[in-house]
Amino acid sequence: MLTALLWLLVFIGGSLVLTYQRVPLLITTLVYCLYVVVYTVVGTGPDWLKLLFWVIYLLIAVPVNVPSLRRAWISGPLLRIFRKIMPEMSQTEADALESGTVWWDGELFSGRPNWRRLLNTPAPKISSEEQAFLDNEVETLCGMLDEWKITHEWCDLPPEVWVYLKSKGFFAMIIPKRYGGREFSALANSEVLAKIATRSATCASIVAVPNSLGPAELLLRYGTEQQKDHYLPRLADGTDVPCFALTAPDAGSDAASIKDSGVVCKGMWEGKEIVGMRLNWDKRYITLAPVATVLGLAFRLYDPDHLVGKTEDYGITCALIPPHLPGVSIGRRHFPLNLPFQNGPTQGKDVFVPLDFIIGGLPRAGHGWRMLMECLGAGRAISLPSNTTGASRLGVYTTGAYARVRKQFHLPIARFDGIDEVLGRMGGTLYAMEAVRTMTAGAIDQGEAPAVCAAISKLHVTELARQVGNDAMDVHGGKGIQLGPRNYLGRGYQSIPIAITVEGANILTRNLMVYGQGAIRAHPYVLKEMRAAADEDHTRALNEFDAALFGHIGLAFSNASRALWMALTSARFTRVHIATPTERYYQHINRFSAAFVLASDAAMLTLGGALKKKEKLSARLGDMLSYMYIASAVLKRYEDQGRPPEDLPLVEYACRDALYRLQESMHSFLRNFPNRSVAWVLRFLIFPRGRMYSAPSDEMGHQIAELISLPGASRERLTRNTYTGDHHSPVGMFKEALELAARLEPVERRIREAEKSGKLSIARGMAVAAAAQQAGVIDAKETADLARLEELTREIVAVDDFDPSELGTHPFNTPARA
Ligand SMILES: Cc1cc2nc3c(=O)[nH]c(=O)nc-3n(C[C@H](O)[C@H](O)[C@H](O)COP(=O)(O)OP(=O)(O)OC[C@H]3O[C@@H](n4cnc5c(N)ncnc54)[C@H](O)[C@@H]3O)c2cc1C
Repeated sequence: MLTALLWLLVFIGGSLVLTYQRVPLLITTLVYCLYVVVYTVVGTGPDWLKLLFWVIYLLIAVPVNVPSLRRAWISGPLLRIFRKIMPEMSQTEADALESGTVWWDGELFSGRPNWRRLLNTPAPKISSEEQAFLDNEVETLCGMLDEWKITHEWCDLPPEVWVYLKSKGFFAMIIPKRYGGREFSALANSEVLAKIATRSATCASIVAVPNSLGPAELLLRYGTEQQKDHYLPRLADGTDVPCFALTAPDAGSDAASIKDSGVVCKGMWEGKEIVGMRLNWDKRYITLAPVATVLGLAFRLYDPDHLVGKTEDYGITCALIPPHLPGVSIGRRHFPLNLPFQNGPTQGKDVFVPLDFIIGGLPRAGHGWRMLMECLGAGRAISLPSNTTGASRLGVYTTGAYARVRKQFHLPIARFDGIDEVLGRMGGTLYAMEAVRTMTAGAIDQGEAPAVCAAISKLHVTELARQVGNDAMDVHGGKGIQLGPRNYLGRGYQSIPIAITVEGANILTRNLMVYGQGAIRAHPYVLKEMRAAADEDHTRALNEFDAALFGHIGLAFSNASRALWMALTSARFTRVHIATPTERYYQHINRFSAAFVLASDAAMLTLGGALKKKEKLSARLGDMLSYMYIASAVLKRYEDQGRPPEDLPLVEYACRDALYRLQESMHSFLRNFPNRSVAWVLRFLIFPRGRMYSAPSDEMGHQIAELISLPGASRERLTRNTYTGDHHSPVGMFKEALELAARLEPVERRIREAEKSGKLSIARGMAVAAAAQQAGVIDAKETADLARLEELTREIVAVDDFDPSELGTHPFNTPARA
C-alpha cells in the first residue's frame, strides 16, 4: 500500500514538474516511458497492472506523437467542433482585432511573463528639447489660463491663448518637423497634456484633440503626398484647426453603424464637371467642430452607378472637408459639463466634393474603420490618461497639503485616521496612474502600437482618476464644492465623466474591448486556431490548427500545475531573475498570470462564442489582465526611477491594491461561472488555500499619507510638473504653507503640552502664539511663523462668494430677497 502511494506521488510530482517547466512533448513522453519501464522492472504491483500501464501509455503516447495519427484522430475532429463553436466575427470586429501590436499583454497572457523583456525596455524619457518646451512654453501657457474666467465668464479660451497655442506648435506635437511640427514623442505629448491639465481641464481637452485621433494623424499614416504637403504645414502653424467627426445621434459606441453617406456621382467643382461624391451627415459631440477649418469626416461610401469601379458599398471612409462649402452646417456648440472647450454638432446636406478629398485617395475608400482603429489603438493611451493623470496630480498636490494646514478639533485633518486612509489611497493610486501612463506611452515610443494596453490605460487611468477626484473632493469638504477663482478642483472633478465617455466609453471598453481583443489577440494560440479554422485550404488549416491546438493543450496543463503549485507555496519558489526589494510582487504576478490564462482557457472552451455575450464574465477576465498590467507598470516605474527607497510604500500599495483586486475579480468570476463543475476544479487549482492575498495594510496607507502631506522627495517626484503659479495663487500658496505647517508641528505640540501641564494658560480673546511667547514656551521667530501660517491658512480655506448678478447668464431683474 505504502509503495503504491509512493509510485503515485512520484507520478503526480513528476507530472507537476514536467508541466510546470513546460518540457517539450517528446521529452515528456520519454520521461513517462522511463517511469513505466522502471515500474515494470522494480515495481511490486501485479503483472496485469503493469500491462495496463503499458496499454494506457501507448494509447496516449503514440497518437499524440505521430503527426498523421494525431491529425486524423484528435486535431481533425476537434477542428470540426471548433468551427461550429467559433464566435462569429464581423469585418469591423476583425479590423479592430487586427490593428495594433501585442506587447506586454502577450507576456501576461503566456502564464509565464518574461520580466527581462519588460525591464529591458528603455525607461521612458523625454528629450531636452521636450523638457524645455514643458518648462517654458507650457509654463507660460498655464500662466495665461484662468480656468474660472474660461469656464464661467468667457466660455472659451481668450483670443491671445488661441494665438499662443497655434503659434507655439501646441496643435502640432505629432506633426514631423519637416512639415513645421514639433515631432514630439508620445511621452512628451502626454507630459504636455498632463501639465496643462493641472491648470485647466478645458485647455487640456482642446490641445489633446489635434494631437490625437484626427486629421493630422490620419494624414500622416494614410494621406497622399499631395494631401500631406497641403494640410500638414497648415495644421502645424495653426492656419487650419482640425476636428474629426465620427459620432452620430444613432451611432455612439457602435460607431461602425453610422448612416452618414457619400454617394459617388457627377457634379460641378470649380466650374468643371467631375466625378466626386455627394455627402450627407448628421454628427454630434465633435470636439473643435465649432471653430474647425478642416472637418475630418467618417461616412459610408457608395457607388451605385459604378462610376469608379465594381464595388457598390465601399464601407466606412474618411475624408477632409472644408467647412465653408455650401450645405455644411457647423458652429453651434454643446456645453460639456460646464467645460467650454469647443464641442458641437455638424450637419451636411448634399455637399459635393472631389474624390481626392478622401484621406489617402480612392484606394483608401472603405478602409476608414481600420484606419480609425489603428490610430485609436495607440492614441487611446495618450490623451485621456494624460489629462486625467494631470488632474489627479493636482488633486494629490493640493489635498496632501490641504490636509496638513486645515485644522479641525485643534488638529490638522491629516492626523485623523479617516483622512489618513483617503490620503494613502490617493497617493498609491496616483503612483499607479503615472506608471501606466508613462509605461504605455514609452512602449509607443519604442514602435509598439499596443491596442490592448492602450485600452487598459484609457479605461483604468480614467477610472482611477474618478477615485482620486472623489477623494480630493471629500478631503476638501466645502472648499472643493464652492466654485469660483479660488476653487482649483471643481472643474477638473466635473470633467471626469467626459474622459470616462470619450474614445470608447468605459463600460463598453471594460466589457468588450480589453478582454474581447485581449483574449484573442494576446493569447499565444487562440488567434492562430481561429485563423486556421477560417482557412479554406483543408490541409493547411489542419496542419496549423494541429500545431496551435497542441501548443494550447500544453499551455493549459502547464498553467494548471503552475497555478496550483504557486497558490500552495504563495509563489515563493518561482524565479523572476531580478534581485529587487519588490521581488515578491513579480512572483505574485507570475502566479496570477498562470491562474488567469487557465481561467480564460476554461471560459473559452466551455462557453465558446457565448463568452462574448457574457460581458460580466469577460469584463472580470479583462480586469484580471488589467490589474497585472497595472502592477507590472508600477514595478517598472520603480526600477526606471532607480528604486528610490522612500517610494517603496507607494509601490507596495499600488501593487497590493492591483493584485488584491485581481484576486477578488477571480473570485467573482468563479462564483458566477455557469459550469459549476468546471468552476469547482478551477477553484481547487487557483485557490487551494482560499483567498490568501490581502489588500494594502493601514500602516502602508499611513506611510503614504505622510509622504504626500509633508514636503519631501516622494511628494516632489509624484507631483512633478504640476503647475502651481506664483506664491500668491490658490495653488502656489501651498508650498510655503506646507513647509511652515511641517516645521511648526513640534512647536504646536509644545504649546499643547504646555497648556495641558498648566505652564501656559490662555486668557479669553488672547492669541495662542502671543500667549505662548509670553509664557516662554516659544520664541519670537516661532510666533512670527505661526502668524504667517495662520494668515496663509485663512487664505487657503477661503472660498468665493458672488453678487447674485454675477451668476447665471440671464438673471432675473427682481432681487432675490425683496
Ligand atoms: C465631450 C465629448 C467630446 C467628444 N468628442 C468627439 C469627437 O471629437 N469626435 C467624435 O466623433 N466623437 C466625439 N465624442 C463622442 C464619444 O466618442 C461618444 O460619446 C462615445 O463613443 C459614446 O457614445 P454615446 O455617448 O452615444 O453613448 P452610447 O453609445 O449611447 O453608450 C451609452 C452607454 O452604454 C454603454 N454601452 C454601449 N454599448 C455597450 C456594450 N456593447 N456593452 C456594454 N456597454 C455598452 C456605453 O459604455 C455607455 O456607458 C465626444 C463625446 C463627448 C461627450
